[in-house]
Amino acid sequence: MILEKAGTLSLAQFEDSELYDKLTRARREASTRPLGLVNKTFSLLQNAISLGSFGVLLVQFSPWALLILVIGALPVFLSEARFSGEAFRLFRGRSPQSRMQMYLETVLAREDSIKEVKLFGLEELFLKRYKAIFNRLFAEERRLTLRREGWGFALGLLGTLTFYAAYGWVVVETVAGALTLGQMTMYLMVFKQGQSALSASLTAISGMYEDNLYLSNLYEYLEQPVEEEAGTATRGEAPGDGLRFEGVSFAYPGGKEVLHDVSLHLVPGQSLALVGENGSGKTTLIKLLTRLYSPTAGRILLDGTDLRHWDAVALRERIGVIFQDFVRYQLPVGENLGVGDTHAFGDESRWEHAARHGMANDFIRDMPKGYHTQLGRWFKNGQELSGGQWQKIALSRAYMRENADILVLDEPTAAMDPAAEAEVFARFREHSRDKMTILISHRFSTVRSAEQILVVDAGRIIERGTHAELLAQNGRYAALFRLQARGYQ
Ligand code: ADP
Repeated sequence: MILEKAGTLSLAQFEDSELYDKLTRARREASTRPLGLVNKTFSLLQNAISLGSFGVLLVQFSPWALLILVIGALPVFLSEARFSGEAFRLFRGRSPQSRMQMYLETVLAREDSIKEVKLFGLEELFLKRYKAIFNRLFAEERRLTLRREGWGFALGLLGTLTFYAAYGWVVVETVAGALTLGQMTMYLMVFKQGQSALSASLTAISGMYEDNLYLSNLYEYLEQPVEEEAGTATRGEAPGDGLRFEGVSFAYPGGKEVLHDVSLHLVPGQSLALVGENGSGKTTLIKLLTRLYSPTAGRILLDGTDLRHWDAVALRERIGVIFQDFVRYQLPVGENLGVGDTHAFGDESRWEHAARHGMANDFIRDMPKGYHTQLGRWFKNGQELSGGQWQKIALSRAYMRENADILVLDEPTAAMDPAAEAEVFARFREHSRDKMTILISHRFSTVRSAEQILVVDAGRIIERGTHAELLAQNGRYAALFRLQARGYQ
C-alpha cells in the first residue's frame, strides 16, 4: 500500500522533506503494527473469556474480591497508556534525525559513495555525526524508558500488595471456618489466574492503543492528497501542430521564478537545441514539457491541446526523455533497455534493435551473458559499466520508445568519447527525421546542426535562430561558440 501510494504522488511532493518524514514513519512501523493489532485482539479475546469464568467463581466468594482485583491492576494500565502516548510523540518528533541517521548509514556503506568517502577520509567525520545523533536519540529514549519502567514497577508493587491482601483475606476466612480447605485452594488459584488474565487483557488494550497511534502514521501518509490527472485527450485538436510554449513562467513550489515568459514552437520533423549556463532553466523546461510540473503562468500545447487536458498515459507515450541523471537500474542489461517501453519490457528483438541505434550493441554482445548480464554491483555476478557505456544504455532506452514522436536528450553524450558522440548524433538525426527532437548540450559541435537554437539565460530566452543566424547576430551564442572553438585550435 505504501509503495502503491508512492506511485500516485507528484514529483513536487517527493521534493518535500515532510513527505519523507511521513513516508519513513509509515514504513518503519507499517509491517509489525497491524499484525500486532491482530495478535493483541486475539489475546484480548482469549483473556476476556478466562477472566469471565474466573470472575463468576470469584463473585461467589465476594464481589469485593473482584473489585480488589481490578483496583490492583488499573494503576499500571493507566501509567502504560500515558507513557505509550509519550513514546509515540517522541518517536514522531524525531523522524528528521532518524532520516539523517539512515542517510549517513547509506553514505558510509554503499558502493556508489564509498569511493569518495574513502578518498576524502570521511568515515570518521560522518561516523562522529552518526554517533552524536545516536547518542542524543538514545539519551531521550533512556530517560523515557527509565520513567516508564520506574512507574510501572512502583505501581506494579501496589498491585502485588492488593493481591497479597486478598490472599490474606481468603486465608482468614478459611481459618474462621467460612471456607473449606478445598475452597481456599480454589480461590487462591482463581485469584492468581484472574489477576494474570486481567493484566494480560489490560496490556493488550494499552498495546492496541499504542499500535493504533502508530497506524495513524500510516493513514496520515496514505491520505496525502493526490493531484488529479484530469485530462482525457488522447489526440490533439490540431494534429501536426507540434509543440508550443506560450508565455510560460514557472517557479518551483516555495521558490522564486526560474522561467520567465518562455515562448517557442517546434513542428514535427524539426530539431531544437537549448544552450545556456548551468542553472539557467533548461532541465526545468523539459520537466514542464513532460508535465512533471505545471507552468505557473502561460500554457504548453501539444498538437493544439493544452498539456493539462491530455490523458497522462497518452501524453507520456508520445515523449521519450533521457535526463542527465537517468537511472542505472541494478537489473539485466536487456531490462535496462526494456524499461524504455513497458509494452516491450522483455522483448529481446526490440532490445537489440534499440541497442543498435544507441550504439550499445557491440559492448553488450561482448558481455558474459549478453543481454542477460546483470548490471551494477549489488547483485551476484553484476558487471559495472563505464560512464559512457551507461550513457549508451540510456540512449538506447530512449530508442525503445518507438511510438514517441518527441525525443528529448538532456546532455546525453557528456561522458562519451568524441567519435562515439559524432556517431550518436548522426544516427539520432537519421532516426528522428519525422520527429520533434530537443537537445540540451554544452558542446557546440552537436548543437550547431539543430534547426532552431535557443539560448537560455536566467530563465529567459535571450537569442534564437539557426547556428548561422546566431553567429551573424554576434551575441552570447557567437561569443560562447568562439570561446569553445578556440579551445580546439
Ligand atoms: P539547467 O538545466 O539549465 O542547468 P535547471 O533547470 O536544472 O537548470 O535549474 C534552473 C533553476 O531551478 C536553478 O536555479 C535551480 O536551482 C532551480 N531548481 C532546479 N531544480 C529544482 C527543484 N527541484 N526545486 C527547486 N529549485 C530547483
